[in-house]
Amino acid sequence: MEKYYMNRNEQSDTKDFEVHRSTWSPECPHPALPENRLDLWWHSNCGTAVKKAKETYTNVAHRINWCYWCSRECHTT
Ligand SMILES: [Zn+2]
Repeated sequence: MEKYYMNRNEQSDTKDFEVHRSTWSPECPHPALPENRLDLWWHSNCGTAVKKAKETYTNVAHRINWCYWCSRECHTT
């Protein structure tokens, strides 16, 4: 299981709200600031983590995306 969080702030360029894997090792090279992390808790893969994010933050669901760096296997599928 991996632990995920969503950045509460949109990216300045893509306007996406990015989902990151906080248990990625050593650490995501483009993480959110600690105070901007919305915890999505534990998931077996990034697909269910983003599903949870979209169900929880419905007002921005269409702009939620995976982090290219730490959740690349979801970003490309
Ligand atoms: Zn990341």
